[in-house]
Amino acid sequence: MYVAIDDTDSREGMCTSYLLAKMIAEMPYDLIGLPRLVRLNPAVPWKTRGNGALTMRVGIGGGSPRTIGGHDGDDIVFFPRLKKEVDADEVVDLFLPLIEEHQQPGSNPGFVVSRTKPPQSFYWKGVRDILEIEEVETMLDDMGAVRHGIGDGRGIIGAACGMAWRPRDRSLEMLAYRDIVRWGSERTLSISSVERMDALYPSTFNNIELRWRKVAISPSTPCPVLLGVRGDDLDDLLEARKVLEGEEPAMWLTFLSNQGSDDHIIEDASELLPDRSYRLRMTVSSQAIENKGGFVIIRSTHLGQEMDCAAYEPSKEFREVLRALRPGDEIEAFGELRDSPRTLNLEKLRVLSVADVNVKKGNPRCPRCGKAAKSVGKDAGYRCRHCSVHIPEDEVPMEREARILIPGWYEPPVCARRHLSKPLCRMGLYQPLDFV
Ligand code: ATP
Repeated sequence: MYVAIDDTDSREGMCTSYLLAKMIAEMPYDLIGLPRLVRLNPAVPWKTRGNGALTMRVGIGGGSPRTIGGHDGDDIVFFPRLKKEVDADEVVDLFLPLIEEHQQPGSNPGFVVSRTKPPQSFYWKGVRDILEIEEVETMLDDMGAVRHGIGDGRGIIGAACGMAWRPRDRSLEMLAYRDIVRWGSERTLSISSVERMDALYPSTFNNIELRWRKVAISPSTPCPVLLGVRGDDLDDLLEARKVLEGEEPAMWLTFLSNQGSDDHIIEDASELLPDRSYRLRMTVSSQAIENKGGFVIIRSTHLGQEMDCAAYEPSKEFREVLRALRPGDEIEAFGELRDSPRTLNLEKLRVLSVADVNVKKGNPRCPRCGKAAKSVGKDAGYRCRHCSVHIPEDEVPMEREARILIPGWYEPPVCARRHLSKPLCRMGLYQPLDFV
């Protein structure tokens, strides 16, 4: 039986993945395959944090069990295949009270139980587009799924779309949870142990921003999560957690996930709609424009239309890439299109080619006396103060600018990456330049 939940938490507390882990730790069923943390459209306005839905398959398991978590000294295991199906109504009766009990004020939980998965198209819509609750409910009713919405029931959308995921590119996340008495207090985690883990297990990713020793695996919110390590290899991940030193988790569990897949990115779009994320080929048409609050914009053209690409303060030195761009440079921009102001908020950038740029060679010399002439205004040329000779703008000597930017892929630092963004290390690439 497939089970999915979404939208049970709030910014003030809880975490839907914690609730799923609790359900698993306490259920009388076997877990079939890994539980799943499925990120959906990061631009939806209703998200609490990372727009993550949680799904799993339960039943009577077959094949050799494998440990993927622990709780109260017991192992949490999964089975590779389903031997016997369980009753849907029983599953609902068991889990619904738990969901109601843990639901946070202001959340709109969705709970779906089904013998089969929804069509895959619902995953792609969920991760790239905006869905109406009615179309999801109709689909679930047509396939005979059991659904429960609490509050306005919006969580049904995430639950159904998460359940519809068939992994194409997939990663893993090992999540560790805190003892309830510690929720809201400061977390202890040794930075050196995170550095060690990062170096020892290259199949893990987005652990730490090594340049500033800023740990990215541990949140600072009052939620139950102690830390989450992402990786591509289950064996490595299970070993990697042993390297970490600090607060002992009360429970831990490994999820299969679409994190780091770029599944949210729409390529070759015929129309551009806000609240979706795109990969767009563009020609840069302005130098970087600096704004209050440290955000930087470059103006570009995409298929003849002007578009502003933005990088915000948290993306730190990624903004240097924008500052180094010049009109005429060819780029591929990855990012979320916002409605107002209409900007493409950059997640990743590929510089395809850099243009030859000519810049003024400083103030021109007076052809009569040889002294430096002074500007008489923007594009109005120069005048010698001594001889009054005027040098028109188009006669000012120019030289080729030494460009610092080189073609290649650029991305924000670890702490500023989106859950769904595919980091360059997962693409077998690295940044050709480091801005320090
Ligand atoms: P957390 O990651 O902390 O669990 P969250 O960021 O996942 O929280 P939710 O509280 O689940 O945020 O809120 C997201 C809401 O948006 C859910 O109700 C979900 O059903 C809905 N939703 C998700 N994707 C879409 C979509 N593509 N179209 C419409 N609604 C969506």
